[in-house]
Amino acid sequence: MTKPTQKYESPQMTVTFDPNICEHSGVCVQGLPAVFDVNRKRWIRPEAAPVDEVAAQVERCPSGALQYRKSP
Ligand code: SF4
Repeated sequence: MTKPTQKYESPQMTVTFDPNICEHSGVCVQGLPAVFDVNRKRWIRPEAAPVDEVAAQVERCPSGALQYRKSP
């Protein structure tokens, strides 16, 4: 069954997560644990690091499950 895409917003950016294609490599939680922490209900906190750091980490996601958009 297809799971809905999750959306996490800060004033500067929006990060989305598609649980259907995540391959659980852990790249995100190891790379930027302040932002990505699966032990929290709101497991992505884009505001917990500078926008460019979050964006760079999202781009390292090997599956493409993570995407981001900077706020205008
Ligand atoms: S880096 Fe991407 S594929 Fe790996 S656990 Fe995080 S969201 Fe899933």
